[in-house]
Amino acid sequence: MQELVRGMRKQMFVDGQFSTSSTGETFAVFNPATGDEIAQVPDASNDDVDRAVKSARHAFESDAWRTIVPAARERLLLKLADLLEANGDEFAALETLNQGKLLGFSKMLEVGGSVQWLRYMAGWATKIEGSTIDPSFGFPPGVRYNASTRRVPVGVVAAIVPWNFPLLMAVWKIAPALACGCTVVLKPAEETPLTAIRLAELAHEAGFPPGVFNVVTGRGETAGAALVKHPQIDKVAFTGSTEVGRIIGKQCGGDLKRVSLELGGKSPVIVLDDCDPRKAIEGAVGAIFFNQGQVCTAGSRLYVARSRFDEIVSGIASVANATVLGSGFDAGTQMGPLVSAKHREKVAGMIVQGAREGGEIIAGGKDVERPGFFVRPTVISNSDKKPLSIVKEEVFGPVLVAMPYDDIDEVLAVANNSEYGLGASVWTNQLDRALRLVDGIEAGTVWVNTHNMLDPALPFGGFKSSGIGREHGKAIVETYTETKSICIAY
Ligand code: NAD
Repeated sequence: MQELVRGMRKQMFVDGQFSTSSTGETFAVFNPATGDEIAQVPDASNDDVDRAVKSARHAFESDAWRTIVPAARERLLLKLADLLEANGDEFAALETLNQGKLLGFSKMLEVGGSVQWLRYMAGWATKIEGSTIDPSFGFPPGVRYNASTRRVPVGVVAAIVPWNFPLLMAVWKIAPALACGCTVVLKPAEETPLTAIRLAELAHEAGFPPGVFNVVTGRGETAGAALVKHPQIDKVAFTGSTEVGRIIGKQCGGDLKRVSLELGGKSPVIVLDDCDPRKAIEGAVGAIFFNQGQVCTAGSRLYVARSRFDEIVSGIASVANATVLGSGFDAGTQMGPLVSAKHREKVAGMIVQGAREGGEIIAGGKDVERPGFFVRPTVISNSDKKPLSIVKEEVFGPVLVAMPYDDIDEVLAVANNSEYGLGASVWTNQLDRALRLVDGIEAGTVWVNTHNMLDPALPFGGFKSSGIGREHGKAIVETYTETKSICIAY
């Protein structure tokens, strides 16, 4: 697999060309399944960020992009989707090597999902429209007015993304931004820059003019912060932690830059006493352990009706105990590594703290004796509902905390007792109870008898500290355009 990386250009992509950092500095990228270094990529300086933003600004204002008709933008995005599909095996392998996820998920979600999103968003390029309005001005006498609105691209977009779904999170931003006529500077996470670099190369091959799509590889506090602050950036589209989201939101608020924030979560999974236990166990396992729990909507708080608590929680613990850990490339592997040594230490520390505060570890929680950044799927029973920090704080790893409840009002109150509001799921066969919970839960997405199902047509985003703005669906037109009102006297 290492040949994959050896064969690719590991550089930034600015103004249609590969380049090193202006300082020559680089940082290491690892294979999380072994802990081995697999590449060095440029550590972008402020000058590099400035060059990328200026290139995107120049492209935005150039005739090559500004006057391009919507159908041509659509065709370019469709071409990019075709190229990604054609190179899908390479991209999937690169993502598994760099991020650690199972190869099947890299194929289905990183590549398959990205192709699906690109094609869906390509269609929006030709469907952006305004409205006509009859104003009521009564003067000067005899003069009439024709008024309308149109949506115009917001401008140069800084897209800053995390490492959990490197390619998909990038495409979630790039595809709608380009469909709406913006230009983009993408900063992938420092842990997982490789597929973003390759995607830029494909965009160039698809025919996007130089500067329309740039990639700077760099660290958050330096390159990321420089991008956010750059005066020629019109909008920041960020996915990442709530902590960094607050910093970015503050900066953009001061600069009055447009900003959309997709942030953290602590999503509740609520199992009612009438549930089908087999489905509820499978569902709760998928909700928390998929992608090693490194999912913003991971169902990390489990609330089970007291009469079913032992049955459901021990069922989940049995699955966790039997889970086979290994490289994402091995067919028998059911769970891969976490993304980095640093993240593994953070997750392991939170498990220890959960136990110290009185949680009972009934699965996992032990060190994994192998190289790489592994954490066993862990289930913490909190049957007497102690105020554990792990119930409040996002772990972003394969760690579930389970609590019993006695009635629907109680579970609704505890489910909503969180600074986050990204996702939630309800497991029941009773429609009236499902709808009551759907009504009451404070979250951007509520699933019933399923979890983590996302679609390009379905708006996605957070309530409360889980974010501001929506991605996907027609909401993206508002995310990447401004309304211009036009008023003509005649
Ligand atoms: P992170 O916030 O540490 O980093 C995300 C990105 O921001 C990275 O590219 C990083 O380099 C950059 N960054 C860091 N500091 C910055 C700064 N000061 N200025 C500008 N950019 C900066 O998050 P992470 O650890 O990479 O990802 C995990 C987090 O992302 C979790 O909290 C998770 O819930 C969240 N997430 C949310 C969604 C969603 O759609 N709501 C999706 C995936 C992940």
